[in-house]
Amino acid sequence: MNLVVVSNRVARASGNEPMTGGLAAALLPVVEKSGAIWVGSSGRVRDGVHREPFAEIEPLGAGALAMLDLPAAHYGGYYEGFANSALWPALHSRPDLIRVSHDDYRSYREVNAFMARALLRFRKPDTAFWIQDYHFLALGAELRQLGVQHPIGFFLHTPWPSRATIGCVPHHRELIEAMLTYDLIGFQTEEDRRNFLGYVESELGLKIDGSEVSTTHGTARCEVFAISIDADAFAQQAQKAMTHPEVSRLRKSLNGEKLVIGVDRLDYSKGLINRVKAFDKMLTDRPALQRVVSLLQIATPSRGTIEAYGNLQGDLAKLVSDVNGRLGEVDWTPIRYLNKGYRQSVLAGLYRSAHVGLVTPLQDGMNLVAKEYVAAQNPLDPGVLVLSKFAGAANELDTALQVNPHDIEGMSRVIATALAMPLTERRLRWEAMMAKLRDNSIRRWFADFLAALDQAHTANRSVGPIPLAPPPSIMMAGGRSRLAPRAAGAVLQ
Ligand code: UDP
Repeated sequence: MNLVVVSNRVARASGNEPMTGGLAAALLPVVEKSGAIWVGSSGRVRDGVHREPFAEIEPLGAGALAMLDLPAAHYGGYYEGFANSALWPALHSRPDLIRVSHDDYRSYREVNAFMARALLRFRKPDTAFWIQDYHFLALGAELRQLGVQHPIGFFLHTPWPSRATIGCVPHHRELIEAMLTYDLIGFQTEEDRRNFLGYVESELGLKIDGSEVSTTHGTARCEVFAISIDADAFAQQAQKAMTHPEVSRLRKSLNGEKLVIGVDRLDYSKGLINRVKAFDKMLTDRPALQRVVSLLQIATPSRGTIEAYGNLQGDLAKLVSDVNGRLGEVDWTPIRYLNKGYRQSVLAGLYRSAHVGLVTPLQDGMNLVAKEYVAAQNPLDPGVLVLSKFAGAANELDTALQVNPHDIEGMSRVIATALAMPLTERRLRWEAMMAKLRDNSIRRWFADFLAALDQAHTANRSVGPIPLAPPPSIMMAGGRSRLAPRAAGAVLQ
């Protein structure tokens, strides 16, 4: 099989930039070994690419990386607009943060259609397409519209919310109908899959048989594949990182103090405000812990041009400065707060140096930082993971200390418990988590998805060729349809 992987952002094996997203970080090692072509955005925009897609190609392991310049006129509406100011907040159950125009939706569909046209050049008779994440919900439908009969799978890295919440996204029905042209749709957790199927059944009135949704294109199979990491490779990297100068400097500066670590993109889904409040409460309620423990919070800037992200950055900086101003002393800072990104070869050593890992998102698809923190620990003296029950990783990492990230007092108590946990209990909890990570590795995620895609496509093809998907009806400002309109649900049985 000839695999073409598609995502908005790609990772370069040789790049010197730190990776700040789970998708790119997780996919790089497996895509590199698979010989696949990984297609994504170059991070640049250009006029005129509609007529002639421009891709920069470079080798990636046994395969290649193809980085496309995206259409300048539609990039903002696609990326900052519909993808990150409508879909991202809705998928993370924050409909109050949705800010979107119908033009943004039009741009989102234009970029999906553009990507579909660009992908044709990578198509061979035995190609399978694997589309990643919420930037490209409609890409499968656009490929089918171009006559592509090949296997097309989709994996969603974020959560899938309740029917009411996804219903707050303009054009939700059209988008979800478009998703049903995929042979296989993968989710991070059973709850995400259930929410999606619940919508499909009650809102679209479609028949569901186990994991399969019947449409006029055949069936879309919906399954769960929890994304992961290569735990043993990460453990080795962590051991090696202990001699990295930055890690050595951190350890020296601790002076016998205990360290709690948080590593997140600066995103409202990560629960950073509540986390800092919980750490503050722990120190305020337990003065004996002052000077004994500090928090290293790495908050890597992300999507800074979007208002909600700018507001968060301001609020968090103010809160941290308030805690440090109130509790700090001439020779002690309670919170070391860093607005920058680190390479994983350094991060791994920072995780290993921390007695407690704080991963407390309000809502998160998986959260690979949680898995990386576990993998990085010294087996003889492991740290304790404090994990939100609303992170996808909570399903597997059930011997972490799980918390409700909305309960600040509860979290402050659990962080104190983690700091005081005896070695025997730390080892028992860590060993159980590490065994699960070894069992459910990123290699297994990759192989399981592709095997299921092959099966789903074979089952679809056994009932004949896939009919062309109808043209997507993109609503223009003013309510006119750019392409032939169709009655909602007409495509689907
Ligand atoms: N990461 C990194 N450098 C940083 C911050 C994060 O390399 O400074 C990586 C981290 O190691 C992890 C990924 O970015 O692999 C974050 O993934 P996660 O699933 O936790 O969250 P996401 O950012 O995808 O929402």
